[in-house]
Formats: sequence, structure tokens, C-alpha cells
Amino acid sequence: MVTRVWDYLAEYEEEREDILDAVDRVFSSGQLVLGSSVRGFEEEFAAYHGRRHAVGVDNGTNALKLALQALGVGPGDEVVTVSNTAAPTVVAIDSVGATPVFVDVHAENYLMDVEQVAAAITPRTRCLLPVHLYGQCVDMEPLRALAERHGLTVLEDCAQAHGARQHGRVAGSMGDAAAFSFYPTKVLGAYGDGGAVITSDDQVERNLRRLRYYGMEERYYVVSTPGHNSRLDEVHAEILRRKLTRLDEYTRGRRAVAGRYEEALGDTDLVLPRTVPGNEHVYYVYVVRHPKRDAIIEALKTYDIMLNISYPWPVHTMDGFRHLGYEKGSLPVTEALASEIFSLPMYPSLSEELQDKVVSALREVLRTL
Ligand SMILES: *Cc1c(COP(=O)(O)O)cnc(C)c1O
Repeated sequence: MVTRVWDYLAEYEEEREDILDAVDRVFSSGQLVLGSSVRGFEEEFAAYHGRRHAVGVDNGTNALKLALQALGVGPGDEVVTVSNTAAPTVVAIDSVGATPVFVDVHAENYLMDVEQVAAAITPRTRCLLPVHLYGQCVDMEPLRALAERHGLTVLEDCAQAHGARQHGRVAGSMGDAAAFSFYPTKVLGAYGDGGAVITSDDQVERNLRRLRYYGMEERYYVVSTPGHNSRLDEVHAEILRRKLTRLDEYTRGRRAVAGRYEEALGDTDLVLPRTVPGNEHVYYVYVVRHPKRDAIIEALKTYDIMLNISYPWPVHTMDGFRHLGYEKGSLPVTEALASEIFSLPMYPSLSEELQDKVVSALREVLRTL
């Protein structure tokens, strides 16, 4: 059997009755779009984060896009973010007509180097967009201070950080708004696509509800600017409501897997993930680093272990973003990481047996490199 970095089938087996009950409840409810499940999930998701509002949308990319628009970001504006992220972060900025401006990441934790942000701010900067990458938070206090000083908004990309915390505050509660993805692999995943934006700003919430519903506040009448059709489905909302009650349990499972890796691989020359002091890591992915990354991945295939790289290409070096004008070498840490990082299997239902198999194959490969 092939081992992959992520698999949901063991979890589905455990939760099958609950998931099928959720599906049946929606299908029998008589309301398939924007009904009581979306409303219920929005309330519970907002409450989990101690925010006033959550607005369910169709995926994480559109959560970012609608959040940017709801915060007033548009053509001519600059948004400061990182290139060491999933491409959708940058796709979303591009899609509202704004210009992404990249800062490099820390060599130890791979997160936005907040010290570089001040130098990236220009008169056109409108928004700071930290990505809580791999499951832990960007240093938010100095970032918020910068935003306040320059009159900027802060949008947190929480697609990889459901339930992560910093000094006790949960990811998504530290900016003006936060965007989440419920893509199946995420820490809180649906059985298909989904997303949400959370905020405590009533006007931003109103903008979001209009933007996800064609630009309408009431049926059939587009109010100010045309919006999108970006609604969260009832069936995913109902599944997510059930799974939200288990989010902290999933995180405990992920931490246990991470703990076992640390114990089993701590004496190798792999660079293991480092948790920034004050952060509670939720390990969306377990990213390790080694100069012979490609050889390791190749060798593990002979053990039927298929690893993944999050991510093999820095966004600023992709052909699709050549128009941004970044030269190779402009973000040295991000570029060095892309050729050395790879991810080990990580999900809450990963069995110890399977993890042992991965660890012993990996140790064998490292010995014979
Ligand atoms: C997954 C992800 C997204 C996009 O979410 P989708 O639901 O796939 O559109 C955005 N940003 C980050 C950091 C992600 O990991």
C-alpha cells in the first residue's frame, strides 16, 4: 500500500455516521443554499474565534479575495505579503487588481520576517497580509503596530492555521479580518471546497455578505458594485459544524504525531520544524529541511512512500507572476527553502504503525545518502 502525506479515509471510517447524518439532515431540510446550516456554522465559527461575525464562502482563495474587497483593497493598491506561501494567497491579491509586494521569511521558522515589512511600505500600501504558514502564527504584535502607525488594514491568511494560537490568542482574532480555507486537507476540512472570513467589523461583514451574493443585499437587486457567487454550501457547512467540535481534538492528534517525529528523528541531520516561543503549532504540514531533499524523496518512493513539497516553487519565480518583476535572488531565504524542504505524512488519524514505517525508511535512506 502506498503511504501519502495526507489521507482522510481512516478519519471518515471513524466519523462516517456523523458525516452521513449531516448530509442527510441537509438533504432532508428543504433548503439547500444559505440555510440554517450555514447560519449555524457561521455563528459557531465566529464564537470559536471570539469574533462578532463569520461569513461562509466557497473556498479559501475567494475568502481572501472577498476579504480584500470588503476591506476596500482594489486596483492601484499594494498588499505586503510573502512569496513563501501557497500560490492562492497571491492569486487572490492579483484578482482584485492590487499588487502583491513580497518580503522574505525567517530562515528558522519560514514565516514572514516582520522586520522587513516597514521597508516594503509605500504610499500605495493598503493592507498587510501575513500567512500563518504550516500551522503557526506570524509575529502579530509588531505587525499590528506597523499597520496602526501607517493606517493599514491587516488580513490574516489562516488557511493553514485553524486553532493555532499566539500568546493565547487564536489565529484569525488578531487582524481586521481573517480568511480560512476548508479544503479537505486543511486542519479543519470539508468534504469538498469551502471557506470563511471572520471579522468583528460590522461594515466589513456587510460587505462580505453582499460580495458573496452577487452584490445583492436583498434578492434580485445589485446594490452598489457587482459581487460574486461565492457561497458556502449547506452540506459542507453542516459537516464543518460537526467537525468544529472536534477541532481541538484533531490538533492534539497532530501534535502527538509531531512529537513522535521529533523523538524519532531528532538525532538525524534533518532540520525539524521549530515552534516560535509563544506559539501553539497545529502542524497543518510537517515540513523538514535537508540539502539532499530530491534524493531523499526519490529513494523513499522505493518504499512506496510518496512525500510532498509545500512548496517547490516560490510564487515570485513562477511564470504566471513574471509581471510583478521580481528577479531570481531577490528573496534569498524563500528561494533556498524551496529547494530543500519537504513534508512528512501528517494527519490526526495517522497510525503509529504507519508513522514507524515512514521513520525507519527515512532513517535508512539518510544513512545511505
Ligand atoms: C489552501 C490555501 C489557500 C487557498 O484555499 P483554497 O480553499 O484551496 O482556495 C490560501 N492560502 C493558503 C496559505 C493555503 O494553504
